[in-house]
Amino acid sequence: MPDYRPKVLLIGAGRFGLQHLAEWRRLAAGGEVEVAGVVVNSEKSRDAIGAGNDIPVHRQLDDALIRGVDAVDIVTPSETHAALVQRCLPLAHVLVEKPLAMDPAEAAELRKLALKSGRVLMVGHLFRFHPVVRALKRLVDSIAEFPRGIDGIMTNPGDGSAELKDPNLEFLHLFDIVDFLFGVEPVMNIGRRNGFVNQVSVRYPGPMNVNLKMGWGGEAKVRVLKLVYSDRQITANLVDNSIVEASRNNQVHKTFFSADPGALREELRTFLAAIRDQSAAHPDAAVGERIVRIAVAARPRPEKERPRVAVIGGGIFGATCALELERIAQVSLFERHEELLTEVSFNNQFRHHSGFHYPRSYDTIAEIKATRRDFEAEYEDAIIRDVPAYFCTSATAIEIPAERYLAACMNSNLAFTLGGPPEGVLDLSKVSLCLKTDEAVYDVPRLRQIVTDRLRRNKDIRFHPKTNVVSGVIGGDGSKRLTVVGPEGSREESFDYLVNATYMNRNLVAQWFGFPVEPLRFDLYELLVLRLPIPQVCVTIIDGPFTSLVGTGREGEFLLSHIHNSVSRSVIPADGMPPDWGELPTNRSTMLRHSARYLPILGKATVVESRWATRTVNAFARDFDARPTVITSHGFGCWSVLGGKIITCVSNAREIAQEILGEKRRAVSRIPPRARTSLSSS
Ligand SMILES: Cc1cc2nc3c(=O)[nH]c(=O)nc-3n(C[C@H](O)[C@H](O)[C@H](O)COP(=O)(O)OP(=O)(O)OC[C@H]3O[C@@H](n4cnc5c(N)ncnc54)[C@H](O)[C@@H]3O)c2cc1C
Repeated sequence: MPDYRPKVLLIGAGRFGLQHLAEWRRLAAGGEVEVAGVVVNSEKSRDAIGAGNDIPVHRQLDDALIRGVDAVDIVTPSETHAALVQRCLPLAHVLVEKPLAMDPAEAAELRKLALKSGRVLMVGHLFRFHPVVRALKRLVDSIAEFPRGIDGIMTNPGDGSAELKDPNLEFLHLFDIVDFLFGVEPVMNIGRRNGFVNQVSVRYPGPMNVNLKMGWGGEAKVRVLKLVYSDRQITANLVDNSIVEASRNNQVHKTFFSADPGALREELRTFLAAIRDQSAAHPDAAVGERIVRIAVAARPRPEKERPRVAVIGGGIFGATCALELERIAQVSLFERHEELLTEVSFNNQFRHHSGFHYPRSYDTIAEIKATRRDFEAEYEDAIIRDVPAYFCTSATAIEIPAERYLAACMNSNLAFTLGGPPEGVLDLSKVSLCLKTDEAVYDVPRLRQIVTDRLRRNKDIRFHPKTNVVSGVIGGDGSKRLTVVGPEGSREESFDYLVNATYMNRNLVAQWFGFPVEPLRFDLYELLVLRLPIPQVCVTIIDGPFTSLVGTGREGEFLLSHIHNSVSRSVIPADGMPPDWGELPTNRSTMLRHSARYLPILGKATVVESRWATRTVNAFARDFDARPTVITSHGFGCWSVLGGKIITCVSNAREIAQEILGEKRRAVSRIPPRARTSLSSS
């Protein structure tokens, strides 16, 4: 036990002050400190300390009181901190609750004062003493790289005072924890307000992109930090005191930490150690000043009434985003081709999925069901519903035999009857089950026409065809600056928000802006356009060859694909960038031959052309068949969309619109949905 027992005066006995008092008492009982008194500003606080209390309680703070102690512990409302520190520091060592001050200039003055006074000015950055944060520090120190991204949430349930407080200062712990863990300062930040929650994106060197949410909302207290590395993800929960480390190879390790002795006791002990020996490590005024500076710089800036949004990519996802976002923003849509929907939004199988394609991915079926209504409300005129669609299981199926397929369809409540295609199309001896389904097909040229027509009619959307976005950067003011090359040459444009809907170029664009590259697999995919002398029909053999013949709704025209023969190359590039396939090798004859084993009608097919697509999917998805649409919210007002299926495009565009809306959400949601326009009504 140390011989020297500093005398400490506690200033403030509100909720946190009482917690400090309890800990000081514990330390006093152990002989580590002497609690000289408590200063309160109301009778209520005096009462809260309790009758029979042996510690002197004062209603006034006077200099004699401060002179009579070694140190003060200031636990008062944030806006009083600076003045109290200024008053006490010339007379005693000071521990002050965070934030050190309400603005950086004030904090800088206090740091100078601390230097001049030769006393300890420690700031109560409590989480530096939290057992989970300390364990996290040891863990991140043992990893050679910085995380590429951090998501942090620190929210309390709403309370009446939320309106009056600044989340960036009240919850500056998040900035402090990042500072403590990595010891680096931000190079750029953007903040926006969403109700009583501030959403802040901070970029550190690396780049390490940190997205934080702090404020008041929800029903429970949340304190979570998720650190994303190239090979693992670490989630620290400061409420249940746990750390979960999940590696890419699916190993998960969860550790719980004891809350005893608790962060506050450790903090107070650190202060006592600093009083005894000023060289003892503690969060001093320099730390306090730095954290205030970082938190204040990341305060939300006033939102524009109609912010400027850039959408890169005029496939079905980008074009639909442009149409949806126009209701809340000024939108510019950049597409490198002359027409919309020319790449994978055209070079696909035209299926308006019901779910029959995904017996091994219930999530994908659920996503289809969840997004169907939104899509059909906007694009019903581009759906052809009178091409009968059959799904069959191969008689030699191993992975999806008839019973399993039937069970999957029934579990997902898919609509079907038993029945097969017209005679001559399918070799019935090769299949064990055949379902007639409600699946429809897209009239993709008509879909393109509808989208183009709506975009052109909408004066608030600036559509730039034949315009290639060649690079981009986030400016110091948070604007997204694009360099675009169009028919009139090269130019720069600035935006408040960015949607990257470039599909195969998803990583290329993300990388320009300093966002992580996702591991992607690129498949060179060949679809055959055929002419067949039969009425329109769709037939898919779900296992075995997984071959698919789709009537396009145009007389005699069909698309053919085959699970193996359609994919002639497949790569997962280390840099995540899309490959240049060079010459395109065709598998026409093999595809026709293999598919004809099940679909003898193909013997009468004439090949019109091959269509090529670069299928782009998550390289390490656990479920090989899943085709989810993935929206990545990068923070900094930027999103990337990797489209999984066309049906999801409207719901996903609305999700992004909702995020951009932020706090204006309630007002705008009262605006009635845009009237549906169609070719027939134009
Ligand atoms: C072989 C295959 C079959 C499929 N079959 C179906 C199906 O039957 N049903 C279904 O629902 N889904 C299907 N899909 C999935 C579906 O096609 C895609 O999810 C969807 O089309 C993706 O649309 P998109 O707008 O994201 O991409 P795209 O249509 O590829 O649009 C991206 C656009 O970005 C533009 N672009 C890229 N970089 C730049 C730049 N730097 N500057 C300007 N413009 C740029 C491109 O020119 C392109 O037009 C299939 C996919 C594949 C590969």
